[in-house]
Amino acid sequence: MTERFLRYVVIDTQSDASSATCPSTDKQKDLGRLLERELRTMGIADAHLDEHGYVYATIPANTTRKVPVICFCSHMDTSPDCTGANVKPQIVRNYRGGDITLPADPTQIIRVAEHPELANQIGNYIITTDGTTLLGADNKAGIAAIMDAAQFFLNNPQVKHGTIKILFTPDEEIGRGVDNVDLKKLGADFAYTIDGETAGDIEDETFSADGVTITIEGVSTHPGFAKGRMEHAIKIAAAIVDRLPKTSCSPETTEGKEGFLHPTGIAGALEQATISFIVRDFADEGLKQKEALLENIVRDVLKDYPRSTYRMEVKEQYRNMKRVIDRHPETVDYAIEAIRRAGLTPRRNSIRGGTDGSRLSFMGLPCPNIFAGEHAFHSRLEWVSRQDMEKAVQTIVHLAMIWEERALLSPSQ
Ligand SMILES: [Zn+2]
Repeated sequence: MTERFLRYVVIDTQSDASSATCPSTDKQKDLGRLLERELRTMGIADAHLDEHGYVYATIPANTTRKVPVICFCSHMDTSPDCTGANVKPQIVRNYRGGDITLPADPTQIIRVAEHPELANQIGNYIITTDGTTLLGADNKAGIAAIMDAAQFFLNNPQVKHGTIKILFTPDEEIGRGVDNVDLKKLGADFAYTIDGETAGDIEDETFSADGVTITIEGVSTHPGFAKGRMEHAIKIAAAIVDRLPKTSCSPETTEGKEGFLHPTGIAGALEQATISFIVRDFADEGLKQKEALLENIVRDVLKDYPRSTYRMEVKEQYRNMKRVIDRHPETVDYAIEAIRRAGLTPRRNSIRGGTDGSRLSFMGLPCPNIFAGEHAFHSRLEWVSRQDMEKAVQTIVHLAMIWEERALLSPSQ
């Protein structure tokens, strides 16, 4: 398990939002090619990396029962927020508690106070970076777990399961993870992303997300002859940002089930200015309320600029997957049972963000998220334990077995 994981994390697979290609960075295919090779070596004949950088593979069913086709999915790219080049994993073999100082940059310290989950890792085998890069456990811990589970199924044909599909995606971190996925080729009925944090976690709920652009058309005149005439688009945009709620409704003032309205970009000149926002909430009505609040602020500001106009464009980004998953409660029930059989206490959570699964769910493939053991991701303090990754493997194996157990005997039996 550990060797597998270490093989994957040293490959730089950082994605790049400014690139228009798919995958956004060609180096993601370096990992894709390795995974294709390893899957084929295991004996999975149809394993392949496609031209868009997706890896598909099938473990054929070994049961006579009619079992839904289950897909396990992880992403190959790492976050653009932190470098993923020259990852040098460090291993704490028998963690005895206390803070972990990273060797190449002693200012980088994984503190128990800030990472309380460390307290549950005593005696475990912890993998960190040297302090100069991210680790990439997000999501290579998930890839390693799926690969290890695949190896287990192939080595243990007495363990019964339906058809299992493996899917590794590029560019999840830049929100394009499922842009070029071929669901017909995949042919799965239900899927699980293995991309959650703490051992035992199962997530069936994500944010709903919109992007909003406000375009302000001001009134431009020569500055020497502007008195009583000029309406400055930059100043209008600044007034709008200034009137956003200051003690609520922002990422820095919300947690749990609260949503937010968050400016992500501003650009402008005298005549025209644009402000980009992301809007997040667990309920679609919450999105609408926040968008109405924003529009009211814009209208109110424009009362002081009677000859200026605005345009507001709302673009749907993704929707809370719970709406889809609730129609298939067995996907979550079986995962909870699998986590229990792996010896863990299941914890059902919601994600303050999106996953590949939120979009897959709305594309017709219900897709909750299961833990992979990754912690402090997108940072140089990222860490994972071997024991948690092994629990993820056991969860995947049990989950496939449970789907087989619960399947009705097919009519031909
Ligand atoms: Zn991830």
